[in-house]
Amino acid sequence: MSHRDPLAQLDKPVQFLKGVGPRRAESLQRMGILKARDLLYHVPRRYDDASTITPVSRAQVGMEVTVVGVVRNKGVVPTRAGLKIFQAVIQDESGMLTCAWPGQPWIDRKLQVGDRVLATGPVKFFHGRQLQPREYTLMGRDGQDEAAREGTIFVSYPASDDLPQWFFRKVFEANLEWLLQQIRQEEYLDGGVRGELDVPELSEALSRLHRPGSLASVEKARRRLAFDELFFLQLVQAQARHRQTQEQPGIRFRRTNQLIRALHEVLPFQLTRAQARVLREIYADMTSTRRMNRMLQGDVGAGKTLVALFAMLLAVEAGFQAALMAPTEILAEQHARKIRALLGDLDVDLEMLVGSAKGSERTRARTRVAEGRAGLIVGTHALIQEGVEFARLGLVVVDEQHRFGVRQRMVLSDRDPRPDVLIMSATPIPRSLAMALHGDLDISIIDELPPGRLPVETRLVRSKGRERMYARVREELAAGRQAYFVYPLVEESEKVDLPAAEGAFSQLKNEVFPDAEVALLHGRLPPEEKDRIMTAFSEGKVQVLVATTVIEVGIDVPNATVMVIEGAERFGLSQMHQLRGRVGRGEGGGICLLVSDFGGDVGERLKTFARTTDGFRVAREDLRIRGQGDLFGSQQHGHGGVLRFADVLEDQDLVAEAQARARKVVEEDPGLDRESNLAVRLLLRRQFGERLKHYEVG
Ligand code: ADP
Ligand code: MG
Repeated sequence: MSHRDPLAQLDKPVQFLKGVGPRRAESLQRMGILKARDLLYHVPRRYDDASTITPVSRAQVGMEVTVVGVVRNKGVVPTRAGLKIFQAVIQDESGMLTCAWPGQPWIDRKLQVGDRVLATGPVKFFHGRQLQPREYTLMGRDGQDEAAREGTIFVSYPASDDLPQWFFRKVFEANLEWLLQQIRQEEYLDGGVRGELDVPELSEALSRLHRPGSLASVEKARRRLAFDELFFLQLVQAQARHRQTQEQPGIRFRRTNQLIRALHEVLPFQLTRAQARVLREIYADMTSTRRMNRMLQGDVGAGKTLVALFAMLLAVEAGFQAALMAPTEILAEQHARKIRALLGDLDVDLEMLVGSAKGSERTRARTRVAEGRAGLIVGTHALIQEGVEFARLGLVVVDEQHRFGVRQRMVLSDRDPRPDVLIMSATPIPRSLAMALHGDLDISIIDELPPGRLPVETRLVRSKGRERMYARVREELAAGRQAYFVYPLVEESEKVDLPAAEGAFSQLKNEVFPDAEVALLHGRLPPEEKDRIMTAFSEGKVQVLVATTVIEVGIDVPNATVMVIEGAERFGLSQMHQLRGRVGRGEGGGICLLVSDFGGDVGERLKTFARTTDGFRVAREDLRIRGQGDLFGSQQHGHGGVLRFADVLEDQDLVAEAQARARKVVEEDPGLDRESNLAVRLLLRRQFGERLKHYEVG
């Protein structure tokens, strides 16, 4: 950092702070605290006040309590069964209470007489009342706990063996004022904006987190830090968006309505309101000089392909080509089939570019694309291979099943003129999450299914109900329907799981459905073999398809009505929702049977899933279960990983505010060169540093 960086004080190693020597600095480093700033942001993980803390005299058997008291007496008690129990008697102003930790004698070394502890757990009956803490925090030791109680609130810092609670209290006692003074220079929100957002000043927020006056003030302070996180994340994305959509002009498609109207006329149904709405959003982008970079989200069967087709026709009627890229050949063919069916005898040339096309066939296809004779081009990765040339590519639609990276998308669209980009995602996620993850894109959501769809009936099946389940499937087969049996994939390689699927396959084939044609589809089959099996299934020549999750990707066989998911507890909810979306695509409705003997939380989760048909709600539930951490971690976005303070579900308003404000800042001052954006620029650089480069591909 140059000496001109006014923010650099907080970048000093934590070792230079009062009360932190080399040894402590090393311990802090192990907790990820390297700089003075890191320490300031090391805020308590937990707050307790009078409303959550029970005086020990009121702790009754059967209650779940949190108490705070000083250890008066302690020791390890052996039982006859050989179990060792650590016991401590703690005292507060109201009285004494015994705490017991069965099987944890080592706590004897950690807790001393005179220590103040905060403990949470159930009160049991055992020679009287006894608290069995599930969790405890050492608040202070031997007279070092004066600061344990900030006003009426107990704070618990994330601590470690060599850095106990009292260390953090002491270190903040000695340094907090100075740290807060420094952070004042990092304030980038003026009073007016803070008022609108209803968040405190940054230094005020951090002060409240370390020295809370009330639990309500803690929540406001958290919101401030949550906003900061979201804002800088959005800022990076807003810059990427600016580069992708505004830096160079995009194509301004002229809407002649020639093809769009013709398609409306041949369609046997009306667009849903949601389809019409997202189409307006797409047309507005396409007919402006701003380049479109939009994500189209919708549940399975919401009618995304049709929306994409309208967008492609707008490109074609304006004299350009439109390409649709699918992750696999089967899907590319399926899209082509669907599009041909929707087009009826509209006069639009459609060409396919897929990897399996060889020799003269491939040359002919490529030539037709290069000469502009094909208006619509549907394909796979083959679209972005070397040697593929387009006459006038105007729109790229990517059917994204988490397969294509940003880079590949851009290869196809990085040409002159720069084509508009529409990304179709079949994984519905809550809008706020989509905004947080894909802030560089605009988002259109189809949140409505075409009318008359019967929801897929979903049921949980236990092992003992297996025979009945088979009987049900036989009925469907007898009625001319088809069924999927899906087995989970535990190992990446499929090596371990294949035998299970193969065993099940031979049993289903020979014993359960001896009269039906049963086929096995798994990821290790050569592509042509997979295609052959899928084609046979979609033509009805195979009635039962036994598969590992390879069928997840958008396969559409309207005659399939049964989806059996074996080992359902191993699947993610969103993944199961994708699978469920494979059936009930025809008139007959569909059933999804989840086979699992799991009870408890897992069983409950499966039951919740069975009751929920809306993909967006499933996604929300999934997110709640898995947490947001790995979602962000798995993105290639290169930002700082998890959000510590923000929760994309709880803080939807902040996500939207952060995005709107970040986009406004970037629109007015793309390079953040203005004096008023100095702090923002420095903070952004600090936070993202080298990783900013990741965004430059876009
Ligand atoms: P998605 O790609 O979102 O999974 P599709 O585009 O494949 O969904 O549409 C699913 C089915 O619904 C297709 O057969 C399609 O023709 C039909 N469809 C699409 N939009 C409508 C609509 N507005 N009314 C009735 N059927 C529709
Ligand atoms: Mg445009």
